[in-house]
Amino acid sequence: MTRAVDVVVIGGGQAGLAAGYHLRRLGLDFVILDAQATPGGAWQHTWDSLRLFSPAAYSSLPGRLMPPQPGETYPEAAHVVSYLTDYEQRYELPVARPVRVGGVHRDGEFLRVEADAGTWRARTVISATGTWWRPFVPAVPGRTEFKGAQLHTVEYRGPADFAGQPVIVVGGGNSGAQIAADLAYDTELSWVTLREPRYLADEIDGRALFDHATARRRALDEGRTDTGGVASLGDIVAVPPVRAARDAGLLKPMPMFARVTATGVEWADGTTADAAAIIWCTGFRPALSHLAPLGLRGPRGHIPTTGTQALGEPRLHLLGYGDWTGLASATLIGVGRPAREAARQIAGLLGR
Ligand SMILES: Cc1cc2nc3c(=O)[nH]c(=O)nc-3n(C[C@H](O)[C@H](O)[C@H](O)COP(=O)(O)OP(=O)(O)OC[C@H]3O[C@@H](n4cnc5c(N)ncnc54)[C@H](O)[C@@H]3O)c2cc1C
Repeated sequence: MTRAVDVVVIGGGQAGLAAGYHLRRLGLDFVILDAQATPGGAWQHTWDSLRLFSPAAYSSLPGRLMPPQPGETYPEAAHVVSYLTDYEQRYELPVARPVRVGGVHRDGEFLRVEADAGTWRARTVISATGTWWRPFVPAVPGRTEFKGAQLHTVEYRGPADFAGQPVIVVGGGNSGAQIAADLAYDTELSWVTLREPRYLADEIDGRALFDHATARRRALDEGRTDTGGVASLGDIVAVPPVRAARDAGLLKPMPMFARVTATGVEWADGTTADAAAIIWCTGFRPALSHLAPLGLRGPRGHIPTTGTQALGEPRLHLLGYGDWTGLASATLIGVGRPAREAARQIAGLLGR
């Protein structure tokens, strides 16, 4: 059966829900198709000890403040899942799940959205599929020779799996620092980073990052000098567990090794370290394979956009993937604004 709607939103994580909130306010006919069996997007799959880098009130989607988590300044991922579950119920967002979209195709005046649960004919599409589903691991020589376990951030659950064992964590971002801090007490940890880790000042958290991104957006909107992205402030938010491990001297960064061996890693000067496991905290790429039939891919796996709108297909918007789809759009508090812009542009295109 083929159903016709104004908008199909692909992905029911925070970005898809923020889009749904604004589409509903504008009175558009839409459906959100989400591959997960339950609400919460990627937050359902993170490691147990993950903490948000902003307090609850600074991690909110449009319309509803995230309530504080009792006893925690920086909420856990499970708290975000509860918030998103409540959010989609409260606003009665029409989420169909589990529904996985395989491809979006041009079909005359429609975009045809083909999914495992059927086909939708959409006047417009918002793609909000996130990045968690495309983990990135760099091509380091010898990686396939390693006999131990290799995991990406997405597969890490907690230190119990590695108790007492030599473990190498690779990556100097927030995931690498938080996972290294998690492992620092119960394993023989080596923390390897491409460059010296850059901590934000202890008093700076996601609130300041968001304020900085907002000031930058204003400057760019008004044609003033670019103040630089949040990366200019540092890479790692010193959330309490990271600060505690760092201050206890347990987070000693080592430079990147030259290759992986059968039993561990080897640096350029011939120094080696054995490992039972290597955990790659080396980032993500946007999950865009369902858009391949549209032939829009540009450099670095991105689709060229102006704001959230695809340059080569004005009926398609991309939401929540990173600064290239709206400054701070890959955060809870930052996705609301580009979601509103996308919904307004779609309403305009549909003549509403
Ligand atoms: C380790 C880590 C820590 C972070 N910490 C913070 C933080 O403290 N504060 C903050 O604001 N942000 C944080 N972020 C960033 C961001 O908030 C999350 O990455 C967020 O999950 C992105 O939301 P999303 O809706 O774009 O994607 P997702 O949550 O990944 O949701 C996308 C949804 O689309 C579905 N989907 C994918 N492909 C298809 C398909 N083909 N068909 C149908 N459905 C599909 C997925 O199953 C998923 O349900 C963090 C990110 C990471 C990785």
